[in-house]
Amino acid sequence: MYNWKIIGHKKQIGAIEEDMKADNLTHAYLFAGPSGIGKFAIAKMFVNILQCPNNLCHECPTCIQIQKDGHPDTIVLKDTEESIKIEQIREIITKLNMTAQGKYKVLLIKKAERMTPEAANCLLKTLEEPPANTLIVMTTDNARLILPTIISRVRLLKFNAYSTGFLEEKLADLFPDTNQETLKQICSLSLGKSGKAIKLLRNADLLASYRTMYNVLCEFLEDTPIYRKFNVIEEVLKEKKDVNEFLDTFTHLIRNRLYQGVSDGSNKDKEQYLISLLEEVENTKTLLSHNVNAKLALENLALKTIS
Ligand SMILES: [Zn+2]
Repeated sequence: MYNWKIIGHKKQIGAIEEDMKADNLTHAYLFAGPSGIGKFAIAKMFVNILQCPNNLCHECPTCIQIQKDGHPDTIVLKDTEESIKIEQIREIITKLNMTAQGKYKVLLIKKAERMTPEAANCLLKTLEEPPANTLIVMTTDNARLILPTIISRVRLLKFNAYSTGFLEEKLADLFPDTNQETLKQICSLSLGKSGKAIKLLRNADLLASYRTMYNVLCEFLEDTPIYRKFNVIEEVLKEKKDVNEFLDTFTHLIRNRLYQGVSDGSNKDKEQYLISLLEEVENTKTLLSHNVNAKLALENLALKTIS
């Protein structure tokens, strides 16, 4: 119905358009799914459609203000990598209770899992009794970290990463000069996350460092002595590389191995081991988001790699 300027996610965008068409908007939405796949861009566009007097023209002052995070009726909590405190939420609720100049008062929260339990509980009261014409749209990379009481009060839309084949096809149109082999590798390294793939396509140094990380991680799946795996972890932490990127690359590597195993179907035990390792990587991510010591969490994961 509208020009969202988004690749894919047809089902989720369709669901939002249905809500708008049927005049059946819920006062709060939560978009959940992996990072870097465009959830927040969709959240912003959603709000943009509602606030623009021309139903999303991409040109009027409202459209421009919303896309630049400068719209007076649209409060945006960007990802600062810091937790969101109760004081911030209280302040925002006061603003939501003021009259809107346009149609809605909107609150957009990126990575809502950053809310402290106190902040989340404070927001919960607003979700239970929202002021008139208020819309809250939140995104999260990990719905397991959102209070169940919050989830029960919102419309939850789940997003998935793209299949690497789909992403490859779309990016081949956008980056026609990139050779096919590189594009294939980038889409695979990005685990189907468009934002990350585009970053790698634009930054050759970053791509090189990813390839190195991938090769180093291969050691984790070999019969390498544990002290060498611990050394790798120390290097990663010393160079302040993003631990989540390290874990994402590990996920990519394990999936590749699984895929190779599945295609020749030779070793069921190995397959089971790799699947459980994928779960361990996810658990490690959850631990890290709860501020567990990174070195301990990664060393614990390394110990799980001994089959
Ligand atoms: Zn407009």
